[in-house]
Amino acid sequence: MTKITIAIDGFSSTGKSTVAKRLAKALGYVYVDSGAMYRAVTLYTMQNGFIESDCFDVEGLISQLEHIEISFKLNEDLGFAEVYLNGENVEKEIRTLEVSQFVSQVSTISEVREQLVKQQQSFGKDKGVVMDGRDIGTVVFPEAELKLFMTASAEKRAQRRYDELLERGDDVCYEEVLANVQSRDHIDSTREDSPLTMAEDAIEVDNSNMTLDEQFEFIVSLAKDKINSLHKKKRH
Ligand code: C5P
Repeated sequence: MTKITIAIDGFSSTGKSTVAKRLAKALGYVYVDSGAMYRAVTLYTMQNGFIESDCFDVEGLISQLEHIEISFKLNEDLGFAEVYLNGENVEKEIRTLEVSQFVSQVSTISEVREQLVKQQQSFGKDKGVVMDGRDIGTVVFPEAELKLFMTASAEKRAQRRYDELLERGDDVCYEEVLANVQSRDHIDSTREDSPLTMAEDAIEVDNSNMTLDEQFEFIVSLAKDKINSLHKKKRH
């Protein structure tokens, strides 16, 4: 069967990764969480003292970029790949609110983006990939056969992220999470390099009032239609 590239972009906490993971599983595709890569670089930046609440040593981070190695390894029990920073599993550490508070700043740095985009493109070179992020349909895979752009109200998104953090046992308050979602949206959409925008040929999916199952059914049918139509075209 014809393999395609599926790019899923959108604002923070729109449930991109949940649907992307499920979609990849249903199609037998590889799933790549590009946000996890930016989060891992941010964790490194924090661990090495390059970023604190009121200062960001950008040059210091850039000088160390060649020492940052990010990889994914399948966790057989969970059924998806987890992210590793220089050989260490950091899947849990990268999801904290502290990392969320710095990640958008780190993601404005062009040298960081260049390094990660190269790696993301190599993951997708054989197609059969579902990747979610902010610039996947515009910069990483502008030729992707299917592009989705996910949206939902900021309040809905903050509530989802808040519930997730509580479930992990993190001590957070809703207002703080909402402020973080809004601030990341702002930085991500206004940065100079690869801002979050909807690709011209993307399909917008507002999931404010959709259940996870409804959303999944809608998206999987879009993907299957696209795969079938390309398959037919190829045979003619
Ligand atoms: O997807 P997630 O919310 O985990 O992404 C964390 C942050 O990483 C985003 O807020 C954004 O600043 C950055 N990011 C990015 N480009 C991507 C994916 C994520 O700039 N392709």
